[in-house]
Amino acid sequence: MRTRSSDPLAAYWAKRDFTRTAEPKGRPGQSGGNRFVVHKHEAGRLHYDFRLEVDGVLKSWAVARGPSLDPDDKRLAVRTEDHPLDYADFEGTIPPGEYGAGTVMLWDTGTWAPAPGQSARNLEEGHLHFTLHGKRMKGDWLLVRMKARPGDRQEKWLLRKLDDAYAGVAGGLIDTCLTSVKTGRTMREIAEGAG
Ligand code: MN
Repeated sequence: MRTRSSDPLAAYWAKRDFTRTAEPKGRPGQSGGNRFVVHKHEAGRLHYDFRLEVDGVLKSWAVARGPSLDPDDKRLAVRTEDHPLDYADFEGTIPPGEYGAGTVMLWDTGTWAPAPGQSARNLEEGHLHFTLHGKRMKGDWLLVRMKARPGDRQEKWLLRKLDDAYAGVAGGLIDTCLTSVKTGRTMREIAEGAG
């Protein structure tokens, strides 16, 4: 479902029933912020939702295999609908039958900055080099949009670590960072509503 609207959150709202999900309805915020968050999301299949604050919303990509610290790994990142800034603090369980049903963990949070000579506008050109100051994701990263193919319903991008002091092995983050940066809970504890 792609809603064409001047409201950047129209697609986000259209997918959700806020009388059923605890996700925030939110509204576009003020521009100028530079948060980033990653949600670990055990929906139909596990993925990591990577979100960059741009122009008062969280631009979002679903990274099926999660971020890799290995600069040789290009991780498929499917563009998803912009989320409200309020989503940056969300953690919990989306009820069965609702869009994205499953457990959501706040897996990383921090700030981001475009690389020298770059800006968020470079996203529109499909190529952004940026630095992350997260609890887990740090250093330089690249997002590159792939050429669209007939039948593509969503934009496909690649997320890649650049070689710097924070580069490492493929599983260096996702295999070792298994708890919420907000509550310290595991996915199972979140699913059970503990703590
Ligand atoms: Mn998701």
